[in-house]
Amino acid sequence: MNDVLDGLIIGGGAAGLTAAVYLGRYRRRALVLDAGGSRLARIPKSRNVPGFPDGIEGPVLWQRMQQHAASFGVATEQVQVEALERGADGVFTARAGQHIWRARFVILATGACDVEPQLDGLADALRAGQVRFCPVCDGFETQGQRVAVLGRAGHGLRESLFVAGFGNQVTWLAMATQEEVAAQDLARLRDAGVRIAESPPRRISCGTGSGVRVELQNGQLLDFETLYPALGITHHCELATALGARAQPDGQLEVDAHQQTTVDGLYAAGDVSVDLNQISVATGHAAIASTAIHNRL
Ligand SMILES: Cc1cc2nc3c(=O)[nH]c(=O)nc-3n(C[C@H](O)[C@H](O)[C@H](O)COP(=O)(O)OP(=O)(O)OC[C@H]3O[C@@H](n4cnc5c(N)ncnc54)[C@H](O)[C@@H]3O)c2cc1C
Repeated sequence: MNDVLDGLIIGGGAAGLTAAVYLGRYRRRALVLDAGGSRLARIPKSRNVPGFPDGIEGPVLWQRMQQHAASFGVATEQVQVEALERGADGVFTARAGQHIWRARFVILATGACDVEPQLDGLADALRAGQVRFCPVCDGFETQGQRVAVLGRAGHGLRESLFVAGFGNQVTWLAMATQEEVAAQDLARLRDAGVRIAESPPRRISCGTGSGVRVELQNGQLLDFETLYPALGITHHCELATALGARAQPDGQLEVDAHQQTTVDGLYAAGDVSVDLNQISVATGHAAIASTAIHNRL
């Protein structure tokens, strides 16, 4: 069993690197395999990470987390894991091309990704804070602004109401026709001061001097400082579900109080196992999962 790691961490973002720090400090043999696409890299500046009252850029935080994990002896290999299997001896095998890694326990920290709208200049608009994906993270920054929420039915409605709680002027771009919004929902939107665009959007352009310009199908032009797409999220759960782990329809993995999936020995941490996609949640999950593994070794 010499080549068998104590813990293999798949995904080297906020959750995976925190798990690496914990397992490293528990003096366990651990390794991170990471495809390099952490959502941290997309954060212009996060202002809700405890300990950083002036905010911290996502890429800087990511780099510090990488250094932190490495300082306790847990290396990261840049690779996309293609398959995860479990042998009759209970040992997990991860594969990428010709390479294999074996481990007694696995923490899946593969994250999630936002469904993106089709619009030109999205990357620049994200950097400039004109398009934002996470009102939990940065709704506070939209106070006093004109804000658009782009989303269908239930999701668009919920996000519009949530964003409107930050003291801004919200317009819901309902995408399809005006949708048949139920009377009680119309009343909630009205009470929250949310406007509903008169027709679906035809074109959305970012990076204009004013921020985000929306042309509606009826020809009307609307300008906003911020756009929140609310099109859903995809959880990167496939390595776990292929082993039989249970997930919700959107891919969110089911876990117990110790972050163990429904497969014994396979743990999940961070965005892949939660709908409150936050750095603090991801790091908390990782602390719980890695401590549970340490106690079982
Ligand atoms: C624009 C934006 C702004 C945000 N702002 C904030 C904020 O201000 N505050 C806050 O708390 N949160 C914020 N978030 C959310 C935060 O980034 C995530 O909640 C956090 O990064 C989740 O950590 P994670 O480790 O679960 O996933 P990630 O950090 O996304 O890491 C997952 C890693 O797994 C890797 N991976 C996936 N599949 C494989 C595979 N098969 N093999 C190997 N590696 C794999 C990916 O490449 C990636 O590197 C923001 C997100 C976005 C997109």
